[in-house]
Amino acid sequence: MKVLIVGGGIGGLTAALCCAHFGHEVTVFEKSPILSDIGAGIQISPNAMKVFRALGIETQVTQNAFRPEAIEARMGVSGRNIFSIPLADHAQDKWNAPYLHIHRADLIAALKTALAERQPNAIETNAEALGYSQSAAQAKLHLRGGHQIEGDVIIGADGIKSAIRQEMQGDDSPIFTGNVAWRAVVDIAALGDMAPNPTACVWMGAGRHCVTYRLRRGTLVNFVGVVERADWQEESWAQLGAKSDALSDFKGWHPTIAAILEAVNDTALYRWALFDRQPLSRWTDGRVVLLGDAAHAMLPFLAQGAAMAIEDAWSIAANLSASEREIAQSLSAYQNIRLGRTSKVQAASRRNMKTFHQSARMGQLANYGPMWLAGRLTPQIVHGRMNWLYGYDVTKINHG
Ligand SMILES: Cc1cc2nc3c(=O)[nH]c(=O)nc-3n(C[C@H](O)[C@H](O)[C@H](O)COP(=O)(O)OP(=O)(O)OC[C@H]3O[C@@H](n4cnc5c(N)ncnc54)[C@H](O)[C@@H]3O)c2cc1C
Repeated sequence: MKVLIVGGGIGGLTAALCCAHFGHEVTVFEKSPILSDIGAGIQISPNAMKVFRALGIETQVTQNAFRPEAIEARMGVSGRNIFSIPLADHAQDKWNAPYLHIHRADLIAALKTALAERQPNAIETNAEALGYSQSAAQAKLHLRGGHQIEGDVIIGADGIKSAIRQEMQGDDSPIFTGNVAWRAVVDIAALGDMAPNPTACVWMGAGRHCVTYRLRRGTLVNFVGVVERADWQEESWAQLGAKSDALSDFKGWHPTIAAILEAVNDTALYRWALFDRQPLSRWTDGRVVLLGDAAHAMLPFLAQGAAMAIEDAWSIAANLSASEREIAQSLSAYQNIRLGRTSKVQAASRRNMKTFHQSARMGQLANYGPMWLAGRLTPQIVHGRMNWLYGYDVTKINHG
């Protein structure tokens, strides 16, 4: 089968690897001139790692990664520990794969290299998709410049502003959440004693929270700081922000947070306005299908957007390879398998936004108190709550 994939991000490249794994011929069309991701980290949870393992690329993906000791929550101002859940060995034992922090550029590079080993010249850059058309026998991808490429299937992995989704069902009407995310990566050597713990740590406070974790074998620290404000609505990885604004947003917070923001290079501090989207009811149109953010963009408060794209990628390829089915039926089967899980993750991400930003002191006591107790007294309960998410293995699902 000839599979045309729009978008060379984490979802698109993983889809190419999964389709190649099942014996299909793939081409990835990426609109940018080079394939690389922005300078930021990403948490890759065990459910996503199982796909990389099944593809035989776990070693490449993990070689520059950092393995956190625990997931922690702390009060943003005092740094008081709310809970700490051991992770390092537990993730492997309990969820059968590691929990990792990876630089996005390293992940893209690993996926790109693995694809080149399996299908050389499978990626076309400077190739922007504008839309598609199809007949009963084939699908046609329309590229800027007038080229039209024929294939059996088109996978729209072109992210939140997907041209393929737009062609399929019009605008997805995102709703601004009133939250803006600061993003930065700093050298850990610049932080001295103020370096955050080797954990995935959520720092919580009134109307804001941030997340710190280490990258690239522990040499870098990734920072994401989310603040409630209505005066910025640009949904883009490329928008720079002013350091003075970031420092003012986290004024009075723990010295670790101040040290990170002081260490940030002015030309590498980014802002991203967070938009929410309701689950779409349909991700397919005949021979055309959506995955990842194009199908179900979600708020980042559960760190699962890319993980869901990676699971989708396996599910599409496995469904396309099921015998005795028309392509359109296979793609509908994929949607039916994935829609419930991704909608649940979207909803859980939205709920976390509220938990992380308790504004009143009573709210903090009511919410963090039980979390603190649960974390200290019965960590297995906290672990148990994540089983549905991290314990899931899409490579073991029966795809027909
Ligand atoms: C602050 C923040 C933190 C996050 N942290 C995490 C985390 O820790 N863990 C996690 O799992 N997720 C996280 N996410 C979510 C994650 O980044 C996304 O869900 C993931 O990148 C989606 O991958 P994708 O391949 O679907 O889309 P994208 O990564 O957006 O890739 C789309 C690709 O398609 C290309 N493209 C777009 N339009 C076209 C076109 N018309 N033609 C050709 N190419 C096109 C783009 O250039 C891009 O390369 C976070 C998100 C944010 C905002």
